[in-house]
Amino acid sequence: MSAQDNAKMLGDMPVEEFKKYGHQLIDWIADYFENPGQYPVLSQVKPGDIKNSQPDTPPQLGESMEAILDDMNRTVVPGITHWNHPAFFAYFAITGSAPGILGELLSAAFNVNAMMWRTSPAATELEEVTLNWLRQMIGLPESFEGVVYDTASISSLCAIAAAREAVSELNVRADGLAGNGKEMPVRLRLYASEHAHSSIEKAAITLGLGTSGVRTIGTDSEFRMDPAKLQSAIDEDRAQGWRPFCVVATTGTTSTTSVDPVPAIADICEREGLWLHVDAAYGGSAAVVPELRWILEGAERADSLVMNPHKWMFVPVDLSVLFCRRIDVLRQAFSIVPEYLRTSEGNEVKSYMDYGPQLGRRFRALKFWFVLRYFGADGIVDRIRQHITLAKEFADWVDVSNDWELMAPTPMSTVCFRANTNKSKHTEGADSAALDAGLDELNERIMERVNKAGRIFLSHTKLNGKLTLRLAIGNLRTTREHIDIARNELESALEREKKKA
Ligand SMILES: *Cc1c(COP(=O)(O)O)cnc(C)c1O
Repeated sequence: MSAQDNAKMLGDMPVEEFKKYGHQLIDWIADYFENPGQYPVLSQVKPGDIKNSQPDTPPQLGESMEAILDDMNRTVVPGITHWNHPAFFAYFAITGSAPGILGELLSAAFNVNAMMWRTSPAATELEEVTLNWLRQMIGLPESFEGVVYDTASISSLCAIAAAREAVSELNVRADGLAGNGKEMPVRLRLYASEHAHSSIEKAAITLGLGTSGVRTIGTDSEFRMDPAKLQSAIDEDRAQGWRPFCVVATTGTTSTTSVDPVPAIADICEREGLWLHVDAAYGGSAAVVPELRWILEGAERADSLVMNPHKWMFVPVDLSVLFCRRIDVLRQAFSIVPEYLRTSEGNEVKSYMDYGPQLGRRFRALKFWFVLRYFGADGIVDRIRQHITLAKEFADWVDVSNDWELMAPTPMSTVCFRANTNKSKHTEGADSAALDAGLDELNERIMERVNKAGRIFLSHTKLNGKLTLRLAIGNLRTTREHIDIARNELESALEREKKKA
């Protein structure tokens, strides 16, 4: 249809046209998946390139799909950083798998608002079904019920809101944190390790606890929270009039995937009467693998746990799951049912709008249901196990190499390492500060060089003040061949830096 016809018409795109472009786009996506390596992993556009390519004013007349798709190829695709690329190793690598994408397509088509049961029973009940399956896959007891949110950040925010609701001296729901003139407000304190995700501090800001309401607990030599330090921080805070109320343990930290000792932390929480929230946004997926079950050891004693199927369980962004052992407290924190939303189904059914700040909800469980059914629990285990194997192989290569060293253990599929041309001297116990001089800059230059070349994409962190490269494996299309490419890219970048020096 021409742009002129389009402009005169009312209603939606005609069905014939939808079919034509729908098929065309599915073909486009299939080609893209077959060969994402044709694009640089990291987008090479400059700031403003995309904005400047677009008109300042909205299109006055409707345009043809040809024109839109043409612009998509010309303008949008170069501005994509290809998370689908098999050599995407930055942050945490993810996959929007094909079954997940088809499920997402359908949920866009149904376009339901899953705020309560009757506004689409299938959306509510498939959420219950898939989360019950997931709960079993990661070995949590039946006492945990799940809720889907968009991200782990929001899951943790809601968990901490529930923890705050559970503080008996307060009635935050009615009186706010300030008490609204009722009685002296208490000073709430939350504990998380120095390697906890920034979303925990953000949640504290949003919930009125303030950043000073979060106390950071030191970690051991393998970046795990030190329970003795947690206990003494709580003791010290109580003595100074703080009201400890919540501990966040991380099983699979973002920097190194270290796993906090949840059993020891749970002992402290039980003794002190504190809400225990486990952040397993990334590591929770690995717990489906029987030999990695230990990652969630003790989590059955937590009050809540977040994990992200959109991170390492092949579900397209976004889908995060909060499991809660005290779902009634979560509900109490958020539920308000205005008259126009009262229904005769009452308590017989679940209204997911009662478990968080948002009313409207997407039908996210559909794509998860597609993914779980298509791959099966065993298929997911095998795929995650393969990523872990590839990561171990890469870590072994680092370990035996003369020029590269590991910076943290590799319990899952993320390897922390750096170039260290003084590696052999280090082991002889020389002055390590002097030997380390210049290594941060060297590694920064190596990272910039390989990312700019566009064949792989790595990110970094700082560990004990040292710039550390991270290689995270999590994409279904990543094979040994791509790990070899990563090694070659790193080796040749290091060689060039050596020559320059
Ligand atoms: C990725 C991650 C998060 C944040 O996840 P979002 O879904 O992007 O909010 C939180 N915690 C940990 C440990 C993570 O790895």
